[in-house]
Amino acid sequence: MKMMIMPLSSVTYRGCPKSRCMRRTCLMRSHLTRVTPITMALTFIVCQEELMGLFVICPACCERSDSSIMQQEGTFLKIKQVCASCGYHRFWQNQPMLHRNMPTCNLLLSGAIHFTGCLATQTLRMLTLFGLQCISASSYFRHQRATPSLVALVRFSWALLEVWILLSIEDRVNKVVDVQLVQSSEVPNSSWCELEGLKRSVGLLRGKDLHLATLITDRHRQVAKWLREELSPEGTRHYFDVWHIAKSSLAAVKLENIITRTALLKDVRQLSPQHQTFSLEAYHSLILHFAPKHTGFSYVGMYSRLLLAALHYNHNANRETARKSDGTEKYCVRYPGFRKGAHVVRPIQEAASYGYATSLMKALQESYTHSPAALRETSPMI
Ligand SMILES: [Zn+2]
Repeated sequence: MKMMIMPLSSVTYRGCPKSRCMRRTCLMRSHLTRVTPITMALTFIVCQEELMGLFVICPACCERSDSSIMQQEGTFLKIKQVCASCGYHRFWQNQPMLHRNMPTCNLLLSGAIHFTGCLATQTLRMLTLFGLQCISASSYFRHQRATPSLVALVRFSWALLEVWILLSIEDRVNKVVDVQLVQSSEVPNSSWCELEGLKRSVGLLRGKDLHLATLITDRHRQVAKWLREELSPEGTRHYFDVWHIAKSSLAAVKLENIITRTALLKDVRQLSPQHQTFSLEAYHSLILHFAPKHTGFSYVGMYSRLLLAALHYNHNANRETARKSDGTEKYCVRYPGFRKGAHVVRPIQEAASYGYATSLMKALQESYTHSPAALRETSPMI
């Protein structure tokens, strides 16, 4: 059984032979051609048999008519209805076009997959198994590569947010300020990626005349050396995150001489007295949802997913505690591994917001309408 996507806004009737027809059964009566922005519309799933049942009766003479699927491409569907009795015929399509030849749902399905951080091949496989007629993985990747592309929109959205964060930066904003993607081919080996990323981020802040008063990192030795030589003379204080030191210490405490190790004693003196890097750890954990480690991504695909993770983090980092209908705060009981069976009580945060993804969907539709050339479907339509 095939299933079709049916956006509510896409009802398009054409070719009524009676412009003043007022028959109650005539579907042409209002000459409906509603093309409202599809991102504002609801989309339904309709089974093929139920859909074709709508074209059994001729809307002009109410006799039985013939109908057939003329064209199908991804989610796009075009049906032709012909009446042998009165000669009436019409074409019907299940969705509006963007700039003449791009089925809106094909593009927006790519956008929805990308902006939510879903894996394209997995999502499309699930939809295909379900029987839904949808785009191929190659169409998705073409949409991702093209310009103005899904990636370009994410970068633009991130750039706007980055400027806002830098302008409103305070003592502690709990926001991701910058994202750098360093390929191992750009540095001597992969262990240099962290330092290279840090250098680029510091360069970005310097370019905006921002001075780093304090920097808290893990115990990365190359980073520590570079900070000591490059940033300390400018007055930047460098601290180590307590948790990273604690992790190392617990592992090493089995060694009898651990307490006497000079390096650890030095590190303890450099422990951060106030802020830690757990927010950054939360962001790193979020990245795993947008770009799972077991999946390989192209450079632009990976970069875009890092930015999407940052957008999601920045839109949801400071959520309030969820409340019941009587106004009291909600809490839950958890059993984290490090408590070895003991429980902790944690506040439940309000549901995450995906407003940034909705904005990106609208921007995708608008940008295609203004500059469609690169994303144009290869086959001619309409
Ligand atoms: Zn007819």
